[in-house]
Amino acid sequence: MLQQLLAEKQQLNLCIGANMIPSVTLNNGENMPIMGLGTWRAEPGKVTEAVKEAIKEGYRHIDGAYIYRNEEEVGAGILAMIDQGVVKREDLFIVSKLWCTFHVPSLVKGACQKTLSDLKLDYLDLFLMHSPIGMKPGEELYPIDENKKVISDGSNFLDTWEAMEKLVDDGLVKSIGISNFNKDQIEAILNKPGLKYKPATNQVECHPYLTQEKLINYCHSKGISVTAYSPLGSPDRPWASSDDPSLLEEPQIKAIANKYNKTPAQVLLRFHIQRNVIVIAKSVTPHRIKENIQLFDFEMSEDDMKTILSLNKNWRGFIFEMAADHKDYPLNTEY
Ligand code: NDP
Repeated sequence: MLQQLLAEKQQLNLCIGANMIPSVTLNNGENMPIMGLGTWRAEPGKVTEAVKEAIKEGYRHIDGAYIYRNEEEVGAGILAMIDQGVVKREDLFIVSKLWCTFHVPSLVKGACQKTLSDLKLDYLDLFLMHSPIGMKPGEELYPIDENKKVISDGSNFLDTWEAMEKLVDDGLVKSIGISNFNKDQIEAILNKPGLKYKPATNQVECHPYLTQEKLINYCHSKGISVTAYSPLGSPDRPWASSDDPSLLEEPQIKAIANKYNKTPAQVLLRFHIQRNVIVIAKSVTPHRIKENIQLFDFEMSEDDMKTILSLNKNWRGFIFEMAADHKDYPLNTEY
């Protein structure tokens, strides 16, 4: 009896330890937790507590970026949890992104070091090229011309990729990946002469109104994982219009949530996990942070998954219109 109790306790410890959230094995053998905390628009005054809360609730994957302008505060939350012994650095999977004004190869290492110093970490688990769109370097994070169009830096994202490969060799990052890349752009990287590392993931907008079936199938067929951003439809995006559809209010999502005694948000997040797609959800609200990770105690039926997939309308919350004329704008192709 005592032995059985001890065995159960050990199993429980295993469950609430670093591996509570299942991982996806990347093409370089690293493991990336399938669910993570997003930090875009997480106000600096709130995000430290949000990160701490998330780590206490079992999150091990935090998604950030230089352009979110809160990496110091994100890092403070991470450091507090390490200092308090809640987690070890190696239990965490920390992601950041190279902003578009740092695509010129000579700027890449400095940009990564700036993020590391803001986060107070000595390595990142994953560093993504935020977008294929290279923009003019300088103080302006969104350099625009008189027509309100972004100014290109003339760089080639293949050269940027090569500079990112060096970050792996220098030990600054464990894995590198891409974000907002279309199939042709991914193919260009895969076909690059002298390619050293394949992208570990492509982080793209994905949810039931933009199911990305072709892009996901393509990436998976090449051993590239997909990470879904804005899984709840990014209701807080500043350019949202009252005519835009709302995933959290979608009747069919609500009906499926009722069926499993879950919330619409949990259904929207679980949808990705059942497709083997990594998902990142942003919240700074403690009860939502907790809700959003309770995804591993139910499984939706194949029919329910089909119903969710049928909601696709190729609707995007992120168009980045001011870059529409850029030579590397990714949304001009089918996928
Ligand atoms: P999400 O789809 O994650 O939605 C976030 C919004 O939903 C917030 O307003 C949040 O409010 C609210 N919310 C969170 N949980 C719940 C819940 N359970 N019920 C109801 N509302 C909820 O949008 P994001 O656009 O932030 O995407 C997630 C992450 O993806 C980003 O934070 C970022 O890390 C990444 N991303 C990457 C991009 C890229 O170009 N690579 C682009 C966009 C996002 P509150 O915080 O107030 O609780």
